[in-house]
Amino acid sequence: MKCHFVDLHAQYLSIKDDVDAAIAGVIANSTYIRGSCVEAFEAAYAAYLEIPHCVGCGNGTDALELALKALGIGAGDEVLVPANSWISTAECATNVGAVPVFVDVDPQTRNIDLELLERSLTCRTKAIIPVHLFGLPVDMPAIMDFARAHGLKVVEDCAQAHGAKVEGRAIGTWGDVGCFSFFPAKNLGAMGDAGGVVSADPTVIERVRMLANHGRVDKFDHSIEGRNSRLDGLQAAVLSAKLPHLDRWIAARRRLANRYDDVLSELPLVRPMLEHKGARSAFHLYVIEVENRDAVRAKLADSGIPTGIHYPIALPFLAAYRNRKLQPADYPVAHRLMDSILSLPIYPEMDESVVDEVAAALKKNF
Ligand SMILES: *Cc1c(COP(=O)(O)O)cnc(C)c1O
Repeated sequence: MKCHFVDLHAQYLSIKDDVDAAIAGVIANSTYIRGSCVEAFEAAYAAYLEIPHCVGCGNGTDALELALKALGIGAGDEVLVPANSWISTAECATNVGAVPVFVDVDPQTRNIDLELLERSLTCRTKAIIPVHLFGLPVDMPAIMDFARAHGLKVVEDCAQAHGAKVEGRAIGTWGDVGCFSFFPAKNLGAMGDAGGVVSADPTVIERVRMLANHGRVDKFDHSIEGRNSRLDGLQAAVLSAKLPHLDRWIAARRRLANRYDDVLSELPLVRPMLEHKGARSAFHLYVIEVENRDAVRAKLADSGIPTGIHYPIALPFLAAYRNRKLQPADYPVAHRLMDSILSLPIYPEMDESVVDEVAAALKKNF
């Protein structure tokens, strides 16, 4: 069997006419940087999430960094982040002069462990970045209670969870700011780098908008120094063409995840939690835990089944943080997951029969 881990081309072909027309429209108007297509996408995405404001930016990493800056997080501050995530979640804190403080993850949700938040606090803690990893929402009511009780800002890292909800309310709309990546392979992906920041607070959004565009208030009037992190018209037009399909794509991901859940139930492996306490996952990745992961992975590859590892090195153990001398004993769950997690193929256009073939290939290995 030959299958893909994700298949961006299949997605393009399924909506080719819409995407081609969107791109042709940008070329016809030459609205390459910001402009009408960007404004239209910002409005459409804010409406989709049911939040007043969205501002586009260059990528998801910038979205996080701009959000922290706009909230006044900087030198000397500490930011709580989960021990398992993509490096951007920690990098953004360092890049504004703050320190990312890693918190181990919960063995069931694999998201930041709420039980460990309290003991991770110091007098310098200013913010927390919950990451809805693999699409499964963090328990946002609990995070917000904790943050309010301790005067912390909440920046949601929603890069893997477009369209996920908690108690019917979109993730990204719970915290002070929600940050999205539209990297091509995300649940809602552009055809290049793109990102977005959402908030109900117009002051924060105005600050992000200025910081992302050289601190501009006018064409040549800069009230502060910012940087260049703008969403471009082509990406915005592609995103607008894709947005109407997002809920359908999440429904397809959910069907595939549920099918995996069924067909893998008899095998000696740990299946991911699909939902919890009113949380609707966006099923970005389907991540199991297996013993002898590398051998299992190699066997699957032999059968033509590509898999992923998200992530092979948890944040505290990356060479980038070696100088902090962080110990596995302090992040036992994240450390254990490094050797056992395996991401199976899942994307909306994938045929359900692939799930059965993946299960059969896994079964042969046990
Ligand atoms: C992809 C991702 C990001 C960064 O997004 P980019 O657009 O690639 O900069 C941040 N956090 C998480 C959890 C991600 O998966």
